[in-house]
Amino acid sequence: MESTEQEIAVFMRKISFITIHPKIIDSYRQFGVFKSAEAAGLAKITATDLRDFAADKHGSIDGAPYGGGDGMVMRADCLAAALASVRTNFLGDSSEKKIKVIFTSPAGKLWAHQEAKAFAESDESLVFICGRFAGVDQRFIDAHVDEEYSIGDVVLAGGELPTMMIAESILRLIPGVLGDEGSAAEDSFGEGLDGRLEYPSYTRPPEWQGHKVPDVLMSGNHQAIGKWRREESLRITKKFRPKLLFS
Ligand code: SAH
Repeated sequence: MESTEQEIAVFMRKISFITIHPKIIDSYRQFGVFKSAEAAGLAKITATDLRDFAADKHGSIDGAPYGGGDGMVMRADCLAAALASVRTNFLGDSSEKKIKVIFTSPAGKLWAHQEAKAFAESDESLVFICGRFAGVDQRFIDAHVDEEYSIGDVVLAGGELPTMMIAESILRLIPGVLGDEGSAAEDSFGEGLDGRLEYPSYTRPPEWQGHKVPDVLMSGNHQAIGKWRREESLRITKKFRPKLLFS
């Protein structure tokens, strides 16, 4: 290995999901950036079945909440056993501090581009804990979770979609994962747009149901197109995410 650039190019991020539905993860792994990141050797993704670490032969990984209430709570001991196995069997020689254990819940910090960028730039292996039912025993969170994120002020039925969403937003920012190197920077929140939202896009046909493509985009004048896009990006950001203009 001669240059740092080459070392970065071959570095493989390890991403693991602990879930009662590994098939959801394994299915999604076959598409889009999950697939291309793995095919390019830039990521290795696994799903660990929490039921393999069940407390009894019936596959129990949850229990009724102490104090009463609806729903079942995922057991700390089963989750800890699954995490220990991931550390030993998947993450192998990675040192402790290079592993981040991430849990998602409505109580977490709101996930956003800045977080995705920071994770994409780090060399940490990621272990995602996918909650189900009423959630996870707080003692597991306190003992093992490094970061807790929410994907918005809504309640989903499980952590599989939130964690895959988070992983996807990280993966696409790793250089080489997207086909066109520049494209992530040119998307919303990217450096190419000064962190703003993207401008509107158009394609063929030039006229559809009486609506024409803006003339400037057909002009071939790249300077004018660039100016129009910057102005539109600013207008849309002001309208939908004004806070971005002051961050
Ligand atoms: N009882 C919990 C919700 C549990 S939903 C509460 O009232 O807060 C089951 C699981 O889905 C959660 O443990 C979490 O992993 C996932 N989940 C649900 N909504 C989410 C959100 N907005 N962001 C991230 N994860 C979420």
